[in-house]
Amino acid sequence: MPVKICLFLILSCCGFAVYGIQEIDSLRFNCVKNRANAVNFDDLQWMFRERGQLGNQVEIPKHLNFSIQDPSGLRSQNYSFEEDSVGNKNLLAYSNMTNDPLLVWGNTLSGEIERFRLLKDSLVKIFNPRGFRLKLLQSERGLAKQMDFFNRGRSMTALSLHNFNLAVDLGIYRRGRYLRRSNWYTHVGSLAKNLGAFWGGDFVGFPDVGHIQAFPNGAALVRKFPELTFEYIRFKEIYEQNYRIAFDREQGYLVDDTRQLISELNKNRVHKVCACSVAIPIPTGLSDEWFGQFKNASTGYVYVQQNEGWVYVKNGDSGYFYSLGVYAFGAKN
Ligand SMILES: [Zn+2]
Repeated sequence: MPVKICLFLILSCCGFAVYGIQEIDSLRFNCVKNRANAVNFDDLQWMFRERGQLGNQVEIPKHLNFSIQDPSGLRSQNYSFEEDSVGNKNLLAYSNMTNDPLLVWGNTLSGEIERFRLLKDSLVKIFNPRGFRLKLLQSERGLAKQMDFFNRGRSMTALSLHNFNLAVDLGIYRRGRYLRRSNWYTHVGSLAKNLGAFWGGDFVGFPDVGHIQAFPNGAALVRKFPELTFEYIRFKEIYEQNYRIAFDREQGYLVDDTRQLISELNKNRVHKVCACSVAIPIPTGLSDEWFGQFKNASTGYVYVQQNEGWVYVKNGDSGYFYSLGVYAFGAKN
């Protein structure tokens, strides 16, 4: 038997071995040092998101000031929340300056949100066992609230479909009294699934019987709307950490949604320009005057020095230098 087929049989008969391969595919992804052929202002929006707004450190600038120094000279671009909130001229900039994903992506997702609204209404109407009522409790949720839920263990994800108004929590009531547990939730789940929704009671590891959503998971949403990668990317390190912890406990099957999401995000970022994740020493020859241009605390800054291959990212009081790079699979910095 040829070695390849033999290996395939060994891998396919053992779930963990297959997970082992997938683990490598989704996590061996790096920003690799590279001067990059061309850098544009959208690349800087990503650098600000990926290096300036990590995790739940939520410093939200009112303005952004981006500069690119390349062989053709120095170009700069300014963005302000007030201006962008009117025209949505640059959704990435807009997203960098607010903590409410729905405010940014509401137009993009309007068709899905409307479809889901009709589905919720139908569900309430068709659930009619005698003496019971179904109510919609909570749909939309801001990012700050979601982070609070996540940090207190009330939610398993840093960014939820609730944040896009594509999930809803439901309550079953009997004679006006809310029932936290009831076998009727399973019935509601099957009605919702018949209508095309996805039921929280089916979640692996963390079932949530009073929850339905419009997509099976975040990965499916990002697959349909790749532009949402920008929202999910700020939590990528949290997702990776959660995935690794579960994987090390041989519980990778519990976080398969997370693995799918990480893979989807990586797929959408590969070959893109980036600021490499480890900060580097201050490049030599920068004057006090040069640093002086980054003094406004309510402005977020990204400065790319393409000739020398570095990036400066500053948000609030924290400013760091990084190597300029390009995302690639399976490589180390
Ligand atoms: Zn929910």
